[in-house]
Amino acid sequence: MRLQSRLVIGFLIATCLTGAVATLVGITTINKNTIDEVQRKVQQDINTAELVYRHNLERLEYQLQFISLRTPIQDAILRNDLGALEDLKALIRIGTGQSEDHMALDMLTLVDANGRVIHRVANPDAKDDQILWDSVVRRCLFEKKPKSAPEIMSVDVIRAQNPNLYNRVLIPIVKTPQSVVIRESQLTDGMVLRAAYPIFDKQGNLLGALVGGILLNRDYAIVDTIKETVYHDERYRGRDMGFATIFLGGVRISTNVMTLDEKRAVGTIVSKEVYDQVIGEGRDWIGRAFVVNDWYISSYTPIRDIENHIIGMLYTGILEAKYRDMTLQTTWIFFGITTLGMVVAFFISFSLGHGIIRRIRILKGATEAISSGNLEYQLPPGRSSGFDMLDEAFNNMAKSLKDRDDRLQKAFQRITRTERLASLGQMAAGVAHEINNPLGGILLYSNLVLEEMEEDNIVRANIEKIIYQTNRCKKIVQNLLDFARTPSGDMVPLDINNVIMMSLNLVKDQSMFLGIRVETTLAANLPQVRGDLSRLEEVFLNLFINAADAMNDHGALRITTRLSSTNTVKVYIADTGKGIDKAYLPHIFEPFFTTKDPGQGTGLGLSITYGIIQKHNGLIDVESEPGIGTTFIITFPPYFGSEEPNEADKYREAEGANIG
Ligand code: ADP
Repeated sequence: MRLQSRLVIGFLIATCLTGAVATLVGITTINKNTIDEVQRKVQQDINTAELVYRHNLERLEYQLQFISLRTPIQDAILRNDLGALEDLKALIRIGTGQSEDHMALDMLTLVDANGRVIHRVANPDAKDDQILWDSVVRRCLFEKKPKSAPEIMSVDVIRAQNPNLYNRVLIPIVKTPQSVVIRESQLTDGMVLRAAYPIFDKQGNLLGALVGGILLNRDYAIVDTIKETVYHDERYRGRDMGFATIFLGGVRISTNVMTLDEKRAVGTIVSKEVYDQVIGEGRDWIGRAFVVNDWYISSYTPIRDIENHIIGMLYTGILEAKYRDMTLQTTWIFFGITTLGMVVAFFISFSLGHGIIRRIRILKGATEAISSGNLEYQLPPGRSSGFDMLDEAFNNMAKSLKDRDDRLQKAFQRITRTERLASLGQMAAGVAHEINNPLGGILLYSNLVLEEMEEDNIVRANIEKIIYQTNRCKKIVQNLLDFARTPSGDMVPLDINNVIMMSLNLVKDQSMFLGIRVETTLAANLPQVRGDLSRLEEVFLNLFINAADAMNDHGALRITTRLSSTNTVKVYIADTGKGIDKAYLPHIFEPFFTTKDPGQGTGLGLSITYGIIQKHNGLIDVESEPGIGTTFIITFPPYFGSEEPNEADKYREAEGANIG
C-alpha cells in the first residue's frame, strides 16, 4: 500500500475510533444525566402533585369552617331549626363542570355530638342514621378537632349522601393484558375527599360537626390543576407533555391521560408491577412506564386514608418522546462531529502524506544523483518540510562522500603514477644499461682514432664532436641509471635544514638567481632524517633550478620546513613562477617529460628527484596554479635512531592517508 494511503487510513482509523469512543461515552453520560435529571424532575412533580392534592383537602376544611361561621348552625342544632340550613343547598354542585367554583361540594352533612345525622343538605330525607363508621367524623368528634382525609365509600353510601353522584361512581373498567387483574367490570366504590369540622356552643361544649365531601371519581379539577401547575400545559410535537392521575386502587378515576379516541382514560388499570410496589408495598415507583398509549417517565405515590391504609395512588408522568428525541439529536450531533473530524483528518493526513511523499521523491532523486556519480549534489532547502534533519544528514553524507571520493582519486593517481614511474624506471634503466656499453665502445674507439690522428687533420674536429655528443649521451644514460638506482652513498642521519642551506648556497649566487628573492622559514628542532646527503642535495638543486627557470629572473622562492601533526618532516619549495598547466601535472615526474625547448631540458630532473625521494621512503607532491606559482612538498619520515624499516612505512602510510 502507498505511504500516503497508509497515512490517510491510519489517521481515519484514529479519528474514527476516538470519535466512536467519545460519542459512546458522551451519549452514555448525557443519557444518564438526562435520565437522572428527568427522574429528579418527576420526583419533584409528584411532590408538587401531592401538595396540590393536600391543598384541596385543606381547602375543604376551610370551607367547612367558613360555612360554620357564616351559618347559624349552633342554633339549628340547639333548637332543631333546620330551616336556617336551607341556604346551604346552593353549595352542592350539580355537575363537575364548574371546577372554577371553589366553594362547590358534593356532600354536606350536619351531625350531633354522637354522630347522628341532623341534616343532609343534598338528601334532606335521609337522616337520623349514625355515621360513626366514618373514621374522619369519628376522629373529629372524639378529638374535637377539624379532620380531613381521603376515604373510600361504596356506591350505596355515596348515593345516600347525594343521589346525583350515583352515575359518577360507576366507572366501567377497561382491561388490558399487562394490567393488574380486577374481576369487576365496573367500579362500585368512590374516592371522597372528606372533612369534618367540630361545632361548639358558646361555653365551648361540643354540639356536633359539619361534614363535607368531594367525590373524586370523574372530577378532574385536581388532576387538571396539577397538570397546569406542574407542566404549564407544555406541549411537545402537538401532544401534551405531562399528565396527572388519581387512582382508586389500581383504577384511574380521575386523569388527563387521553385514550386514542381523545377521551379521558378513566377506568383503565395500572400495570401489575406498579400496583404491587405502590399499593402492595407502599413504596413510590419512578421509571419508564407505558401509560395507555405511550411511554412516560412516571412517578406513582400511594394515597392513604386517615387510618393510614393505602387506598389509591397519585400519578404524574412526562412524555418520554421529548427526551428520547433529545438523546437522538445528541447522537446525531456527536456523529456529525465525528464525521467532520474524519473529513478534516482526511484532508490533513492527505496533505501531510503528500508533503512527505514529495520530499521523499526529492530525496530519492538526490540518492539517484549521488549513486550516478554526481557527488556535488546538495538537497534544495525545503522550508518547513519537517525534514531538515534528514536533509542536513543527507547533504553531509554527500559532502563526505565527495571528500572521500576526492581523496580516493588522489590516492589512486598517486598509485598509478608510482606504478607507471616504477615500470618506466625499470625500462629506462634497462635501455640505459644496454646503451651504456655501446656508448663506451663508441667513446673508446673515437678517442683511439683521435689519438692516432695528425694534429692538423681536418677530420679531427668531427671526431671531437662525436666524442662530445657521445659524452652527452653517456651523461643522460647515467642520469637514467640514477633514476632507478638505490642511493649509492651512505644513508646517515641528517638535519634537513642543513641539507637545504648547503644546496641553496651552491646555486644562490648563480646568474639565474640574481633577480630572485629567496626566503627561508626553517623550523627549529626538527627530527633528523635518514638519507644520502649528496642525493638529497641533488633533489633540492633540481627543484631550486626548476623554480628559477619558471620565474624567469624575477619573483620569490620560499623554502619552508616544519613538523607535521603526524611527526613527519615537511619541506615546501614554493615559487611565484608561471605554474604548471593542469594537463601536464600528472606527467611532470615522468622521465623525459619536459616543456622546455629541445636542448634546454632533458625532462629527467623531476623523475630523478622522484626516484631519490622514493628511495628515502618519502613522498613528493606538487600543487600548482598556472600564472601564480608552484609548490613542491616533500615529506620525510623522521629518524629517531631506529633501524626498523616498518617505522618509516608507517609514517608513509599515515602521510599518504593525510595527503590522499
Ligand atoms: P626539465 O626541467 O628538464 O624540463 P624536469 O623533469 O625537471 O625536466 O621538469 C619537467 C617539467 O616540469 C618542466 O619542463 C616544466 O614544464 C615542469 N616544471 C618543473 N618544475 C617547475 C616549476 N617550478 N614551475 C613550472 N614548471 C615546472
